[in-house]
Amino acid sequence: MKKKVFIIGSGFSSLSAACYLAKYGFDVSVFEKNDSFGGRARQFKMNGYTFDMGPSWYWMPDVFERFFNDFNKKSVELYKIKKLDPGYKVFYKNNQSVSISSDVNKIIETFENIEKGSGDKLKKFLKEAKDNYELAVKDMLYKMPGFSILELINFRTILKFKLFLTNINKQVNSIFKNEMLRSILKFPVLFLGAKPNNTPAFYNFMNYADFGLGTWQPKNGFYDVVKSMLSIAEEQGVKFYKNSTVNKINIDCGQVKSITVNNKELNCDFLVSGADYAHTENLMDIKYRQYSDNYWNNRVWSPSSLLFYIGIKKRLKNLNHHNLFFDTSFEKHSDEIYTHPSWPENPLFYVNLTSKTFEHTAPKGHENCFILIPIATNLKDTEDTREKYFNMVLDRMENLTNQKIRDYIDFKRSYCIKDFKDDYNSFGGNAYGLANTLLQTAFLRPKLKSKKVKKLYFSGQLTVPGPGVPPAIVSGKLVANIIKNEGII
Ligand SMILES: Cc1cc2nc3c(=O)[nH]c(=O)nc-3n(C[C@H](O)[C@H](O)[C@H](O)COP(=O)(O)OP(=O)(O)OC[C@H]3O[C@@H](n4cnc5c(N)ncnc54)[C@H](O)[C@@H]3O)c2cc1C
Repeated sequence: MKKKVFIIGSGFSSLSAACYLAKYGFDVSVFEKNDSFGGRARQFKMNGYTFDMGPSWYWMPDVFERFFNDFNKKSVELYKIKKLDPGYKVFYKNNQSVSISSDVNKIIETFENIEKGSGDKLKKFLKEAKDNYELAVKDMLYKMPGFSILELINFRTILKFKLFLTNINKQVNSIFKNEMLRSILKFPVLFLGAKPNNTPAFYNFMNYADFGLGTWQPKNGFYDVVKSMLSIAEEQGVKFYKNSTVNKINIDCGQVKSITVNNKELNCDFLVSGADYAHTENLMDIKYRQYSDNYWNNRVWSPSSLLFYIGIKKRLKNLNHHNLFFDTSFEKHSDEIYTHPSWPENPLFYVNLTSKTFEHTAPKGHENCFILIPIATNLKDTEDTREKYFNMVLDRMENLTNQKIRDYIDFKRSYCIKDFKDDYNSFGGNAYGLANTLLQTAFLRPKLKSKKVKKLYFSGQLTVPGPGVPPAIVSGKLVANIIKNEGII
């Protein structure tokens, strides 16, 4: 008889783990508390508008491809996808803006036009970033379950050692002088959840992901990826249960025996949790928890976010699919997220309009608009505060893009810390897990396998490799491989 694996949650890491485990011959069931699958990447539709609720930047297409290839599929067979050109636009104060082309040679030209001599410097910088990408993403990521420091040590990483002793902020500032160019090169590491001056320079491989591999968009949004993974899992025989909250993990003689789902006990042989790590540990008696409240309180968390999903009754000008509003101080805003957590005085923000690329994601002649303001975790989240920031960013958007927007709002939904906690059991309302700082990298992250409870495993953005959709997909594969090696089928 097949061994039974239960998976808590249906985020990308859980979907990935489910697909691999079913392929390896396990009997897999996924339990999701919400009424739809995909975790933070859920989608909602309203009045003809389609919104991805979380991820919107489709980077590192090779990681998605590698996943699909493992199931003898290609992404193009599963969903239509387009490389965006420009990839994104960045707004600065004094009505300046920079658009990042999908062609790296054009990006080099853009740099050269803004700062003389920076084109050649960028070429050299990207050569190193590409080399780091080949090493980190193409090779090591899949071989590092985070058990030991030894996973990090090989001939190639030793040569890269100095890049772990400096940070992205220092590296970029030492090469480029212009503040706009510096901010563009520091932006990609924000996906890793930490400040550029707290992120090792080795992570400049994210710049290769940005300029070298480009920004892509599936036709119906990120949810196309969720749907494709769900269909692969179902083909492999995975069973899915929504509206199924796991209330308790039951342990017998130091080993997982069962879970209690909507107050009903169900037995399993292995348990993987893709839900937030701290929440999962709280589903067990305190003696089985590996990490204390103190441990979680002292981690560097990725930011939370204040989000607005807005329908707009006209087409907007001067905006692209992805737009970054960097017209205020990056340093001050980072300080308000990480060093002195507080509501930011004048935050940077991000605006996404998928209807610029795929018009069917909004009613004809309309625009679907998603605004994201990064904020610290655990702040006091009230309707009044949300409204204050909505008005603040809308004013800036109207001024910098030179148009009226407020008068054309069809509908608006906000989403913030309280929702992250209620919907995902997210620690502190974090949006994308634990940051990838030097001290929270690889073997220094919470473990994929419990040290205290046999047959209990973890996946997702709080474990290895880290935050973001591609790492979540990799983490599902890593945990499935550990179980495959340990579970005699
Ligand atoms: C606003 C936002 C923007 C982002 N932008 C990007 C981006 O542009 N590009 C990118 O690559 N990444 C982005 N990310 C990050 C990315 O979405 C996440 O890293 C990834 O989706 C996390 O997947 P996961 O499997 O770790 O967990 P999650 O998606 O968090 O899934 C965990 C699941 O567990 C469920 N759960 C929790 N508790 C229980 C319980 N007791 N019982 C049953 N189920 C439970 C939750 O409901 C949830 O469905 C973004 C995230 C957010 C929030």
